[in-house]
Amino acid sequence: MTKRVAIIGAGPSGLAQLRAFQSAAQKGAEIPNVVCFEKQSDWGGLWNYTWRTGVDENGEPVHCSMYRYLWTNGPKEGLEFADYSFEEHFGKQIASYPPRAVMVDYIEGRVKKAGVRDWIRFSTVIRWVDYDEDTGKFTITAHDMVEDRMYKEVFDHVIVASGHFSSPNVPEYPGFETFNGRIVHAHDFRDAREFAGKDVLLVGASYSAEDIGSQCWKYGAKSITTSYRSAPMGFDWPDNWEEKPALVKVDGKTAFFKDGSTKDVDAIILCTGYRHYFPFLPDDLRLKTANRLATADLYKGVAYVHNPKMFYLGMQDQWFTFNMFDAQAWYVRDIIMGRIEVPSDKEVLLADVAERVEREERQDDVKYAIVYQGDYVKELIADTDYPSFDVDGACEAFFEWKHHKVEDIMGFRNHSYKSVITGTMAPAHHTPWKDALDDSMEAYLQN
Ligand SMILES: Cc1cc2nc3c(=O)[nH]c(=O)nc-3n(C[C@H](O)[C@H](O)[C@H](O)COP(=O)(O)OP(=O)(O)OC[C@H]3O[C@@H](n4cnc5c(N)ncnc54)[C@H](O)[C@@H]3O)c2cc1C
Repeated sequence: MTKRVAIIGAGPSGLAQLRAFQSAAQKGAEIPNVVCFEKQSDWGGLWNYTWRTGVDENGEPVHCSMYRYLWTNGPKEGLEFADYSFEEHFGKQIASYPPRAVMVDYIEGRVKKAGVRDWIRFSTVIRWVDYDEDTGKFTITAHDMVEDRMYKEVFDHVIVASGHFSSPNVPEYPGFETFNGRIVHAHDFRDAREFAGKDVLLVGASYSAEDIGSQCWKYGAKSITTSYRSAPMGFDWPDNWEEKPALVKVDGKTAFFKDGSTKDVDAIILCTGYRHYFPFLPDDLRLKTANRLATADLYKGVAYVHNPKMFYLGMQDQWFTFNMFDAQAWYVRDIIMGRIEVPSDKEVLLADVAERVEREERQDDVKYAIVYQGDYVKELIADTDYPSFDVDGACEAFFEWKHHKVEDIMGFRNHSYKSVITGTMAPAHHTPWKDALDDSMEAYLQN
């Protein structure tokens, strides 16, 4: 009997899985019956922008953590699909840091070409997944939000591709309840213009703080303060940007920091990260991991060691994104289709995880982490027919990107890199990032 496979989520990871199965079918293989469940009314995952915060049109938590004016924060040359280049999609090479709308168009281009939209049940939330030891099958409970109907269906495999940058980690500090201004988590940040003319405090020292702070700066905030717990970001910030140690409390509009200094602020944006959150999974199927390169409990970073018929995609902290999701999706496809064998001894699976953890912990510098994840991508694609590509070249683009940020944090997006898929150099963008206020696709693609 034909196997049945459920994919939860139609973001870049879930779409990679659909494309992986479709490409096998295209080459004449008999593929399982694949159903993808997506709670939003469209595909694209986090890249599917909405102005909404809190709940969506169905009363479900809004998934999107992206904002207006978001441009990729790493070069597109590090994430390009090996089977669908930017040049193929746009008919020409484009600059290296596209805004969100351009990225959505690119993500969609590949799956439209593959013709897999019909495999997705949109506006359908997975409420629960159960595994039956006797039958060896999963039962999923889905909620069709359009018809407001719940139903159950049985599958041989479940692939969780629901993302992990959507459920915010929200700390509380003394004085928040009576703060005379707006407090918002990065997940709910949408439009930097709201903060024009304001003194803004960003709590955190990672990508969200850096990028949301840069957005606010670009769109006219009066001052930016970022506060760090362990180490400052240390870039050469503009004059109206300062880094402070940990926030201790607020009183009225005044923020107090660990070094005894203070700053009056109008708004606080909590860039305090996200949690792996799977409210639709019971204990025995639910991944519990920190945001790291070697996730807990995933053999080869994808197969759940406590039940290897179940898979997770994209659960790692991410340097590589789209092409890593592809590498994972092709690998998972081949396990499901019997082309790759997962060892039956659980100890072997656990040893694989332990080795990845140990290797990740050997060094903690950024270059090591990039190469570590590049090696992971290489490891997976070596075993499948995903087109091999110059992963080392992609690592080089990441190294250069890091270097460009140190040189000029507000100017790194003006640089160009060479595609590792087509070998062509990206053109320089027509306008420096700090002056490019229109983030539409039309504006970006103008010559
Ligand atoms: C602010 C921000 C900026 C980023 N910028 C970049 C960038 O510049 N470049 C880059 O490469 N990466 C970036 N990322 C990383 C991002 O994680 C990946 O690009 C990518 O979106 C991850 O894809 P995913 O499919 O794993 O998860 P997601 O994109 O989160 O998609 C998961 C999907 O699962 C669906 N889903 C969740 N729960 C359920 C359920 N119960 N039932 C049904 N469907 C469900 C969601 O609706 C969603 O569509 C950024 C992330 C954030 C938060």
